[in-house]
Amino acid sequence: MTHIAFITGASKGIGAATAVQLAKDGFDIWLNYRSDTVGAQEVATQIETLGRQCTLLKFDVANSNEVENHLTPMLEKEVPFALVNNAGFTRDGLMMLMSSEEWNSVLQVHLNGFFNVTKPVVTRMLRKRQGRIVNIASTSGETGVPGQTNYSAAKAGLIGATRSLALEVAKRNILVNAVAPGFIETAMLDELPMDEIKSTIPLGRAGTPEEVAGTVSFLCSPSASYITGQTISVNGGIYT
Ligand code: NAP
Repeated sequence: MTHIAFITGASKGIGAATAVQLAKDGFDIWLNYRSDTVGAQEVATQIETLGRQCTLLKFDVANSNEVENHLTPMLEKEVPFALVNNAGFTRDGLMMLMSSEEWNSVLQVHLNGFFNVTKPVVTRMLRKRQGRIVNIASTSGETGVPGQTNYSAAKAGLIGATRSLALEVAKRNILVNAVAPGFIETAMLDELPMDEIKSTIPLGRAGTPEEVAGTVSFLCSPSASYITGQTISVNGGIYT
């Protein structure tokens, strides 16, 4: 039987590359996104060309009602083997100038989104006594970054949740890890002065979404069967 991998925020960027890589690994894909239907359909076409099935799930992970309405009927039929919590965005700004909306929206998408999606999925994984959960964190959750107090708080919180959930479900053979990317070439970098930033990265370049997807793929593979509660950095050496 083909296993399912469920990736949130996969209409573009790291999520899209992860969905395609996991399809190459043999998974059928549940592909969540929030607004970019054209992008999501393009990723679905790539997955189907690989001979795998792709189910599109358009909902906002931060909205608990939307998550429940879309996920409950799906989970009554099938339980994913792998869940990748990837959906997210930044709202950068100095703390002194940050609005409550900028603070709350970033915590909601990364932390409430993780909770809303993971709780119903892991509950079913427990019954199956198998599963892999990979949370996409960030270097910003491992070290300080000026202008990102909201995002650093969210990603550090996600790393903490990864450690605790890993301990709660280990006895049922469910592995929970985080991947912490550095600067990765996606729309998220559009506003950043990358020429200046590249000189601060030991490997001298931004990473690709595929380089993050490769690590997620490993964590969802049989080769990672003794790894849980860890955060693996994919950051070109920018934080060691
Ligand atoms: P991206 O290219 O902007 O893609 C973000 C994806 O998340 C899109 O598919 C978007 O869907 C989806 N999304 C956003 N809010 C959502 C919501 N509320 N509900 C459902 N889906 C939502 O960003 P990315 O760079 O690939 O980032 C992916 C993850 O990696 C994020 O968690 C980010 O924090 C993390 N990360 C990125 C970098 C980097 O340098 N790029 C570094 C460290 C960590 P729509 O477009 O359809 O709305």
